[in-house]
Amino acid sequence: MTEGSNEIRNYIDGQYVAPVGGAYLDNIEPATGKPYSQVPDSDARDVELAVTAAERAFEKWSRTPAAERSKLLLRVADAIERDLERFALAESVDTGKPLSLARNLDIPRAASNFRFFATAILHTENEAHVTDGMAFNYTLRQPRGITGLISPWNLPLYLLSWKIAPAIACGNTAVAKPSELTPMTAHLLCQACREAGLPDGVLNIVHGTGPKVGQAITAHPKINTISFTGGTLTGKKVAETCAPMFKKISLELGGKNPNIVFADADLDAAITGSVRSSFANQGQVCLCGSRIFVERAAYQSFVDGFVDKTSKLRMGDPLDPATEQGAIVSKTQLEKVKFYVDLAQQEGGRVVLGGSPPEQINDRCRDGFFFQPTIITDLPVGCRTNREEIFGPVVSITPFDSEEEVIGHANDSEYGLASSVWTQNLNRAHRVAEQIHTGTVWVNCWLLRDLRVPFGGMKQSGIGREGGNEALHFFTEPKNVCIAK
Ligand code: NAD
Repeated sequence: MTEGSNEIRNYIDGQYVAPVGGAYLDNIEPATGKPYSQVPDSDARDVELAVTAAERAFEKWSRTPAAERSKLLLRVADAIERDLERFALAESVDTGKPLSLARNLDIPRAASNFRFFATAILHTENEAHVTDGMAFNYTLRQPRGITGLISPWNLPLYLLSWKIAPAIACGNTAVAKPSELTPMTAHLLCQACREAGLPDGVLNIVHGTGPKVGQAITAHPKINTISFTGGTLTGKKVAETCAPMFKKISLELGGKNPNIVFADADLDAAITGSVRSSFANQGQVCLCGSRIFVERAAYQSFVDGFVDKTSKLRMGDPLDPATEQGAIVSKTQLEKVKFYVDLAQQEGGRVVLGGSPPEQINDRCRDGFFFQPTIITDLPVGCRTNREEIFGPVVSITPFDSEEEVIGHANDSEYGLASSVWTQNLNRAHRVAEQIHTGTVWVNCWLLRDLRVPFGGMKQSGIGREGGNEALHFFTEPKNVCIAK
């Protein structure tokens, strides 16, 4: 890391400040298992300072012309891109993900998020309705005020910028909290915002734990809009806190995503796509397909090809440019993965690949949190391993006999975030996509993202949608003006 950049501070009113209580947490590098920086262990007092700054800034920022806000956000995107290598290194060290993934996906997408919303606000339309001969209505969409933005550790800058960019683009101000496990890129983002000339107080970042900082943000009476991404249990707590205060909330939560392969699929493409959708970022993407269903006629060929291709993934030090599988984010998460692999075997599953930590990666990574990509077959469809979110490099594969049967399996989940369908039959693709209860259905692809489309989950995967107009609507308040003729 660059000298000095390990000293993480809160960012309030355009200044880097120490937490009021003076307490810090160790920031552990997953690849080594050792602390490499310190992150503020802030509390409600720090959130209060951030809210005061955001409230003061809102007055002017909400009246700043869209063209000016747009220009500033574009400059933030430029600043991230200029510093891409530094961001990518920080992301890789913080999360344990391969440096190549951070460099090619996470950081460029974070810059795209700023660019997308910077330009989206220049092209919005206002609705107008003529009421017969009596009146003319038009809808004003106004910024809501101070927004609270809370994000998880798996795609730290990508997900935080997916909230910050639309929130401030729409004229709101923000109090944001990255995960305490992966704070470094948010810290660097503040420098990018400074360089870009974003006015003080428009974006404030308070670091710390969920129960202290996250809870103080969701409970704060002056923060009327909460955009949260994280686990379903935490989402419930957020919803409980916000409901009596009638806050507008968006919850992007967990998933147990089905990945369906029909016998008529292009099997090579399905195998390659499924290796990615199972193990990208060590399976720690909310959209990863962790339940693979393969039509019986193609089952054995798929399993053989899938195991072969997965076994060739290069696991290594995340900082090695050749590494394709890095570390799991934390010891707790690693223990969770181990627990579920044991449970799967108790539930009758057969581990056909992986199932344990790898041999030592290198001396630097001796104490790191690594686990091999793991493939399990022969599990009963409805067992816990197939129902509960593991959020790691573990997938199960199950054969099926009919379209109807597999749609039943896919929908037999309390989650409904995303799914993939692999088939060459166009009619089937449409038919199945229509019947699966997930917010996104990918056909013959995975994680192909267009920032204009609605993104989010059904059932326990959350409420609300992000992306494009959905985000612009979420972060603004519609007001109808009715003028009598
Ligand atoms: P988490 O729920 O533990 O934490 C998410 C964030 O919430 C963190 O910043 C945490 O500090 C904060 N938090 C914790 N307790 C809080 C509280 N009481 N009040 C307010 N904030 C609180 O989730 P995680 O372990 O960081 O992330 C993994 C989870 O995120 C998985 O379930 C994954 O599926 C989900 N996820 C969902 C999406 C999506 O778009 N649906 C995207 C990425 C991750």
